[in-house]
Amino acid sequence: MADLSLKHIYKVYPNGTKAVNDFNMRISDKEFIVFVGPSGCGKSTVLRMIAGLEPITAGELKIGDVVVNDMEPKDRDIAMVFQNYALYPHMTIYENIAFGLRMKRVPKDEIDRRVKEAAEILGITDYLKRKPKEMSGGQRQRVALGRAIVREPKVMLLDEPLSNLDAKLRTQMRSEIVKLHKKLNTTFIYVTHDQVEAMTMGTRIVVMKSGFIQQIDTPKNLYKYPSNKFVAGFIGTPQMNFFEGTLKKVGDEVVIDFAGSDAKITVPYSMMMKTTPSYLNGDKPVIIGLRAEDISLDEEKVQKSAAKIKVKISHTEELGTETLVYGDIDMNGDGFAETNTRVIIKSGGFKDYTPDEVLEAALDISAVHLFDKDTEESILPRIPEYNYVDCVSRGGKLSFSGVNIAIPPAICLDEGACELLIPPTAITFGGDIPAEVEGCEDISGKVLISLEIGERRMFALSDRKLPEGKTAISIDLKQVAVNMGGEQVISPMPTVNTLNGTFSMVKSKVQRSDGKKQKVRTYYANIAGKQLVMPEEVYLKMFSALSGRKVYNTTFDYEFTPYDFTLAQDGLEGEVQAMLDYGSELFAKVKVGGSILYIKAENEVAGKVFLLPEMAKVSVIEKERGIRIV
Ligand code: ADP
Repeated sequence: MADLSLKHIYKVYPNGTKAVNDFNMRISDKEFIVFVGPSGCGKSTVLRMIAGLEPITAGELKIGDVVVNDMEPKDRDIAMVFQNYALYPHMTIYENIAFGLRMKRVPKDEIDRRVKEAAEILGITDYLKRKPKEMSGGQRQRVALGRAIVREPKVMLLDEPLSNLDAKLRTQMRSEIVKLHKKLNTTFIYVTHDQVEAMTMGTRIVVMKSGFIQQIDTPKNLYKYPSNKFVAGFIGTPQMNFFEGTLKKVGDEVVIDFAGSDAKITVPYSMMMKTTPSYLNGDKPVIIGLRAEDISLDEEKVQKSAAKIKVKISHTEELGTETLVYGDIDMNGDGFAETNTRVIIKSGGFKDYTPDEVLEAALDISAVHLFDKDTEESILPRIPEYNYVDCVSRGGKLSFSGVNIAIPPAICLDEGACELLIPPTAITFGGDIPAEVEGCEDISGKVLISLEIGERRMFALSDRKLPEGKTAISIDLKQVAVNMGGEQVISPMPTVNTLNGTFSMVKSKVQRSDGKKQKVRTYYANIAGKQLVMPEEVYLKMFSALSGRKVYNTTFDYEFTPYDFTLAQDGLEGEVQAMLDYGSELFAKVKVGGSILYIKAENEVAGKVFLLPEMAKVSVIEKERGIRIV
């Protein structure tokens, strides 16, 4: 039993295929994790890297507290079950299950105990003397599971184990595997391309596409809060309806206008508070997503609804307990082609609908999903990117609805109306701005706090829930952008400092206390003409990502935060360009070679300075393949 940690994991196959990109995830002990996505998205590659069957190009894989990147598969305490169960045909079921343990020279009576226990759990005790050919597909898959169970692994990996079974058996084995997970009480990682399998089995699901994680969440949250159009369309049957349209905020309301049809509805702005404001001006095309069950033809519901659209019915599909009604919100549409106006509606029970009949449908706007038309990312995210605050800059203060914040020297702002873009992370608790906690929402391990600040709703992030009622906050202005006259006039202070450089190693001999000479190797990052000693741990990661001589012939991006430097007598030579005083913190803007760095400073500095970066905290990026090595 163990936790797993995957940090910045990449896989580039020797032929150049980048199968996995920056995969980050922590898996807790006893979780049932499902990797799901279309064929070729990289899910088996991740599983095979965890198993040790495929070398990891870059990144760190930990099982428990141990980094296992270079550990042999047999030493990882992991068992893997494949789609093709590959049993030995000439051996009995007992021998097949016992085989791995025999090879490990486990004592005979221990093998017997484990095989019988596994057979009992899997309900195949009566078949132990049979040969595989005398078993059905489902029973054979159970034997394959048995072979994995007897190894008593810390982690069970299952790669599409049910794909070879027919639909009925698949459903049955699905619940048996869930039951098995409960019984064994160990971590399961399961790969499938079938979203129904993922939704019914996983405690958390990782949706992947083209080597990138799209979203990691519980089945319920993936369904309710997909973070982009891909996840929204991949999860759920029938597929979510996607319409094109625009949003326009008029006073306290938002008008949703569906393109290609006359459909137009008005909803209270309070329902769409998290929507990115730049989409609310009525001219930016958006994708409007609504699931089939969030649209209703029920007459009573339609009568009561304030959000109605006309649908021309085309045809229906009877599913027994419910009917899928196909139609079009474009009165000239045919309801068959997958267009931006085609609609599928779930209707309970059996009901007759006449083709070409025009009916009114009620939309449940509390369940609407909105996506950018080009990036397809959600524009109604659970955690909004920014709080947008209309504000006035006057007399050295930023003022909005009764709140006044002193403008620190680092921000040079003209007087006049402006808009603040405040990320939720920039609001911290404790400070001198009075606020009221209105509610808390748990979102993937973080807590989104709804605040009322000067009659204005704002969102902050916290590690823990806060009681409703009065509180006080402060705003970290170095994270805030300011727009004036439609232009961004103040940008947040960069938090990543990038320096180009190379790598080198120097071998030398030192005299030990016993008089003998000892060979030592020193590793260096060569940045702006300086050699900076690099910890061996960093070198080892670089060497494993870029084996052989290549590590000496590559230019890297070395990244540091503003807090990773000290001003010293020696180090990288730089020229101070400005001091940024944010009130509570002071930073120096320093030019080093061709790079501009932002460095935390204790006091004002000027002219020539020397900077020592803390090499143990470096991030190393290999630009050619776009890989984060450390
Ligand atoms: P999935 O399991 O999601 O179907 P895979 O992890 O098997 O996807 O593959 C991800 C990508 O890597 C695909 O583009 C595939 O063609 C490629 N790939 C897989 N194995 C190899 C290999 N041994 N050599 C080169 N490319 C590979």
